[in-house]
Amino acid sequence: MIAIEIPDGSPFGVDNLPYGVFSAARDAPRVGVRVGDSVVDLAAALGEEVFAAPTLNPFMAQGYDRWVRVREQVTALVAGDVPDGAVHAVRDVTLHLPIDVADYVDFYASEHHASNVGRLFRPDAEPLLPNWKHLPVGYHGRAGTVVVSGTDVVRPSGQRKAPTDTAPSFGPSVRLDIEAELGFVVGTGTPLNAPIPVDDFVRHVFGAVLLNDWSARDIQAWEYVPLGPNLGKSFATSISPWVVPILALEAARIPLPGQSDPEPLPYLRETGPWGLDVDLVVEWNGEEVSRPPYREMYWSPAQMLAHMTVNGASSRTGDLYGSGTISGPEKGQRGAFLELTWGGKEPITVKGEERSFLLDGDEVVITGTAPGAGGGRIGFGEVRGRILPAR
Ligand code: CA
Repeated sequence: MIAIEIPDGSPFGVDNLPYGVFSAARDAPRVGVRVGDSVVDLAAALGEEVFAAPTLNPFMAQGYDRWVRVREQVTALVAGDVPDGAVHAVRDVTLHLPIDVADYVDFYASEHHASNVGRLFRPDAEPLLPNWKHLPVGYHGRAGTVVVSGTDVVRPSGQRKAPTDTAPSFGPSVRLDIEAELGFVVGTGTPLNAPIPVDDFVRHVFGAVLLNDWSARDIQAWEYVPLGPNLGKSFATSISPWVVPILALEAARIPLPGQSDPEPLPYLRETGPWGLDVDLVVEWNGEEVSRPPYREMYWSPAQMLAHMTVNGASSRTGDLYGSGTISGPEKGQRGAFLELTWGGKEPITVKGEERSFLLDGDEVVITGTAPGAGGGRIGFGEVRGRILPAR
């Protein structure tokens, strides 16, 4: 038996305890919890078969009461001695996609981002469309191309047509971008025709991850009218390997304007609040270029879940929904390069070079932290991706 050491100030203290799927040496992938710089093998430590699975889905499907109980068990476990064979150094393991992604929806919940994009894509119109403050706008993305942090992203090819071009052309995207977001993982879903009330968020959503919604702006700008994003986004969406339990985010809860300004329809009024004070940092080739603040969002994840199911649509274990790009009011808080460089017209300096969109070989790392119950910060880890040339 060994005691797990947690370095002072670690963002993976006992008030975090995020879940992931890891493999050590030639063992099959299984569920683990990160504590300090260690991973605890839950199947070995708790002796339960549900954690020997290669995804979190079987455990998540057991429901809210089990999530609470297992968190208590893990908290007690890591406070004492853990069986030697159940502990691995995080540097010695491979981290896998933690969930079998069921459906994937991406929202558009930052007023700052939606206003900036409106100004860029529709310069002669009101930046926010009339529906924006009445419902969380979203679209259905491609669940099968959600990948774990560290997976390389091949530059997508597609149709593009700049306003000045007379005809569309085909080729590798020349305006490849990121979107820094949070993703929310549904643990237990609902059958058809059983909408999830806004205040039931905590019983259905298991946890949150960092999400990078890679976006090919040239493909997107040509294809998106009138039905929304499609191939400009569906080539890859990266998520962080650690799923931070909603139960770990109590100290991060804050109210958002989407509850009052204007007052939303009754199904979107939350007792909550479920805004979350999560700070993101975006690094481009190792240089910090933005600090998007999730506290500045307009719609909460509870409102997004209620909206996603209010028409009677069912939901499933493993459903993933993104917040939409997180942008704050300041330039240095914008979560997409499209906004940060104002459509490429105001390049920024990255490692001494003038840059607007992603070049082959570029690497983007998004990290995030939130206030923890212990008075310090809890970490989401990172979502990392590198751009490979088009094939
Ligand atoms: Ca997005």
